[in-house]
Amino acid sequence: MQDQTPPDKDALSAYFFQIADAVQKEMPDPPRTLFPMIRQVGDAAAQVLASVALTCESPVPDCASGCSFCCHSRIHVTPLEAVLISAHIQDSFSPDEIRHLKTRVRANLTRTRGQSLARRVAIKDQTPCIFLDHHVCSIYDQRPFICRTWNSLDRRACETAFVSGNHDAEIPCLSAPNYVYTLARDVVQAVCTRMHLETGRVEMVSAMDHCLGLTDAADTFARGVTIFKEEVPATGVPACDT
Ligand code: SF4
Repeated sequence: MQDQTPPDKDALSAYFFQIADAVQKEMPDPPRTLFPMIRQVGDAAAQVLASVALTCESPVPDCASGCSFCCHSRIHVTPLEAVLISAHIQDSFSPDEIRHLKTRVRANLTRTRGQSLARRVAIKDQTPCIFLDHHVCSIYDQRPFICRTWNSLDRRACETAFVSGNHDAEIPCLSAPNYVYTLARDVVQAVCTRMHLETGRVEMVSAMDHCLGLTDAADTFARGVTIFKEEVPATGVPACDT
């Protein structure tokens, strides 16, 4: 892992809180606040990383559109991310695209639900992320924080790990994206806690299965209703486990 000099944790958290608070001040209505809040905190994290990269003249990640080895892992997202992704799908996917997505969700769950980690790793090539479309993320601008943390300085190492099924392989990467986006996600979660909204982590495919069955997941969430806890494990799970 190649390190850049990370900005001070407390100062960075305070900066992200400042951005989230400014959005809330401008738009006190919770459902309307949530979209711009998560987007602006995410944008701020991206800017912080861009300036760190410039200052440190750090190496450039080897990631590129069409490379999707890392998009075959089972990931966990925050409840807010899940409902916002689902709202994005309802707003911008065509009825056909939604139908295909639901088919991919069902196929993925049929193959993975209740399976051991070893079995899920063994069938990784058959269970790409439900949002992968011809090796490209179909929700790229709305992708969760966990996906933004991933980077690789060596695509061939990703390929070798993927083909061999070695999920413990050491992939050379920059640590700063993980540090900055994780902090940004924690601030967004803290703001949700302050607003008495559901927090924790939910497995993304199960969460999408649940959200796509609701007509107004984002509004329901924003009213403070717990919509995931009984459906998918929300705590005690890593952000990515295969
Ligand atoms: S949401 Fe997008 S970036 Fe994240 S794993 Fe799925 S396809 Fe990859």
